[in-house]
Amino acid sequence: MKIAVAKGDGIGPEIMEAVLNIFKANQVDLEYEYVEMGKWVFDKGFSNGMTPEAQRTIEELGILFKGPMETPKGKGVKSVNVTARKTWNTYANKRVFQTLHGVDTVFSKAGIPIDVTIVRENIEDTYGGIEHMLTHDVALSRRFITRPGSMQVIRYAFEMAQQKGARRITCGHKANIMKLTDGLFLECFYEVAKEFPELNADDKIVDDLAMQLVVKPEQYDVIVLTNLQGDIISDLCAGLVGGLGFAPSANIGDHISIFEAVHGTAPDIAGKNIANPTALLLSGLAMLRHLGLTENAATIENALLYTLETGVHTGDFGDKSKPSVNTTEFANAIIANF
Ligand code: NAD
Repeated sequence: MKIAVAKGDGIGPEIMEAVLNIFKANQVDLEYEYVEMGKWVFDKGFSNGMTPEAQRTIEELGILFKGPMETPKGKGVKSVNVTARKTWNTYANKRVFQTLHGVDTVFSKAGIPIDVTIVRENIEDTYGGIEHMLTHDVALSRRFITRPGSMQVIRYAFEMAQQKGARRITCGHKANIMKLTDGLFLECFYEVAKEFPELNADDKIVDDLAMQLVVKPEQYDVIVLTNLQGDIISDLCAGLVGGLGFAPSANIGDHISIFEAVHGTAPDIAGKNIANPTALLLSGLAMLRHLGLTENAATIENALLYTLETGVHTGDFGDKSKPSVNTTEFANAIIANF
């Protein structure tokens, strides 16, 4: 089986190398076609951040495993990450946040386990970047929420919740203020809920949800939200389980799916071989399961969990009184624990 791989910018190539070395050591039966995507491709003159050949390869192979990519600053340049999600209609962004032993947080220290899955609508909302100046002093942004777009991501969330054996599915929204846009999303949520009577479906206003997640995260299971609110709530959830280094993500579409970490290119630590590859590795494990390579995924996941439990850590987490390891050493420690 062949997949497309884009190493990304900043820490992207370092963490991608670490993850692919782990896959190789576990004899994961995948071939990789490296594609040109990212800031350096904008710099080469491709205005959407990818070459036509990269686009063709991804469309042919159907799976893209990608490192984080930088959006060049300045007006008129769109994020290649957002372009990729839109071009291939990866309408559902699934982000799993779980307590990992060895990654100390306020909750793990209190013995409170967290297992929250966020499903974020990935295409619509304010991410169209449709903005203009109405007058010199007034900027206007348009927000699109559609019934078909909402129905497909909400249906995905319910089906995934059912497969996962979840008890509860919650819709986060601001329909009390944005009555038409969030109102439509919420209406679609309860329409789909009728098809899944065994799931306990409820809704929470997003500001209350943010507070509840910080105070009692263990009461949540699967949460579905519109694009911007989902983006913010998922970074909050990353904080609950130890930070961005532990936040994987899958962009799911009907034809193409993209697996990547939630975090960005971390320019402050790029090129130092000290980044934490765990989020990209967890994204890679979700990809292996998506492709049916479940035995590899289980072995690598067990080795990762054991490595974390034994206190091996990169500099961004763990017991600061113990020396940290670099990206390569962290990957080698996982390999040694197969
Ligand atoms: P960031 O996630 O890159 O970094 C935020 C902080 O977290 C930094 O201090 C960084 O060092 C730390 N961090 C992130 N990942 C880490 C890891 N794996 N190990 C250790 N520490 C880690 O966010 P930012 O600085 O706001 O964004 C930088 C660039 O990344 C921007 O150009 C942004 O557009 C882009 N970005 C890309 C994606 C993506 O490709 N999907 C996502 C978010 C941001």
